Amino acid sequence: MVLGGSIAGLFAARVLSDAYDEVLIVDRDLLLGVEGPRRSCPQGRHINGLLARGQQTMEELFPGITDEIIADGVPTGDLAGDVRWYFNGKHLKQQHAGLLCLAATRPLLEKHIRARTQVIPNITFAEQHEVLGLQTSAGGARVTGVRVQRLESDEEEILRADLVVDATGRGSRMPVWLEELGYGRVEEESRKVGLGYVTQHYRLAKDAHFGDVSINPVASAEVPRGAIFVRTDGDRIEMTTYGMLGDHPPTDTAGLREWMRTMAVPDIYDALEGAEALDEPVAFKFPTTIRRRYERMSRLPDGLVATGDAVCCFNPVYAQGMTVAALGALTLRSHLHTGAAPEPRRYFQDLARDVIDAPWEMTKTVDLGFPGVEGERTLKVRLGQAFLKRVQLAATRDGAVTAAYMRAAGLVDRPEAMMRPGFVLRVLWKSWFGGQPAPTRASSAAHHIPDAVAG
Ligand SMILES: Cc1cc2nc3c(=O)[nH]c(=O)nc-3n(C[C@H](O)[C@H](O)[C@H](O)COP(=O)(O)OP(=O)(O)OC[C@H]3O[C@@H](n4cnc5c(N)ncnc54)[C@H](O)[C@@H]3O)c2cc1C
Repeated sequence: MVLGGSIAGLFAARVLSDAYDEVLIVDRDLLLGVEGPRRSCPQGRHINGLLARGQQTMEELFPGITDEIIADGVPTGDLAGDVRWYFNGKHLKQQHAGLLCLAATRPLLEKHIRARTQVIPNITFAEQHEVLGLQTSAGGARVTGVRVQRLESDEEEILRADLVVDATGRGSRMPVWLEELGYGRVEEESRKVGLGYVTQHYRLAKDAHFGDVSINPVASAEVPRGAIFVRTDGDRIEMTTYGMLGDHPPTDTAGLREWMRTMAVPDIYDALEGAEALDEPVAFKFPTTIRRRYERMSRLPDGLVATGDAVCCFNPVYAQGMTVAALGALTLRSHLHTGAAPEPRRYFQDLARDVIDAPWEMTKTVDLGFPGVEGERTLKVRLGQAFLKRVQLAATRDGAVTAAYMRAAGLVDRPEAMMRPGFVLRVLWKSWFGGQPAPTRASSAAHHIPDAVAG
């Protein structure tokens, strides 16, 4: 039984369907046939980019799904070659790296993953069911199911299961349930980032992308505001802009336009000239990241594991959550292949080591680069930050550095790949002696420089 039928729950159900006779997905929301954002998934109104590794894993779990999504009108491009990245206000040189970027809105992406899950014969959905708590064997050593309540019913029901997978997201009750059962409180790590997101959709009056799929000025310590300005399904532009530590974007169209003037580069402000707003701006506040260290628990009941945001809620700016949810499903699959139920502590240890540690550490290093974010700046963190600055500078002059950086940021390569001596030397050389930043496709077009010359 999977609690939560969002992205993590769907990926988990997919791998469970190979190992169990029946898989039931329980969610409080209506899911089947839903096309737009859902009530219990407010992040669906904002950009939810799937990193390259997420796309690859999704395709492995649901072969052919990428083509189905593209056929639904989703623009695509290469994460390093077709995205106009700005770090510290400087344009990264673009070079294709074989990293497919699927620019789908979150509801459309989820709709496709759900449709492929729904046709798996041994998966069923219990929609509009609120999960109330766990059902356990006497003494609480084994979880045997959950207590649920159907929407608009006063009665509780018990649903039995051999294995319960908690995919209820950030608000997961699993820490409380474990404490009530006498297992103690799970250790939590969190960082206050005070992030405010605002999203609006547009139709532009003029081309601003010049073949790029997205324009992404990334927040830096100097300008702690950023944006993603992406061509998406429905022939629309989806713009999410954000500010850190309480410096949040306004929620009216005119104010938002002025806010875009304060970005490190003018591309998006200029692009919005004469643009038609298709909806009202929508806000979302993300106060803290959270990581629940189940792998450090000395005991856990049998028959219960968790995945997705229920275990780790990353800073959304780095777009890691859905990819980590997909990779978590592969970890779960590796614990199902013997035919025996997974051993929860071993599952959580593998999940932490193989899936969560690298992106968590990577983003911790970046978050702590903002002076107002609290946390210890160890020597390792400061060295990591200094090297990352060099990488970002070298990438403004060398497309191969951009490609390697995006392979790591896209979770295709482990971060260690950027520490190979040859690459480190290249980064140092280019960042010291590399020359001028590369022009964008937009500036090349303005000066009639052919793409082949502009690189
Ligand atoms: C503003 C924002 C932007 C983001 N941007 C990105 C991005 O660009 N890229 C990326 O990869 N990730 C992004 N993320 C993270 C991403 O949305 C999540 O990692 C992803 O949705 C996987 O989460 P999940 O399935 O674990 O949980 P959720 O998506 O939160 O789903 C939890 C599900 O559980 C159900 N549920 C919860 N409690 C109960 C209950 N008691 N009973 C029944 N059902 C219940 C809910 O209805 C819901 O369907 C972003 C997050 C936020 C907040």
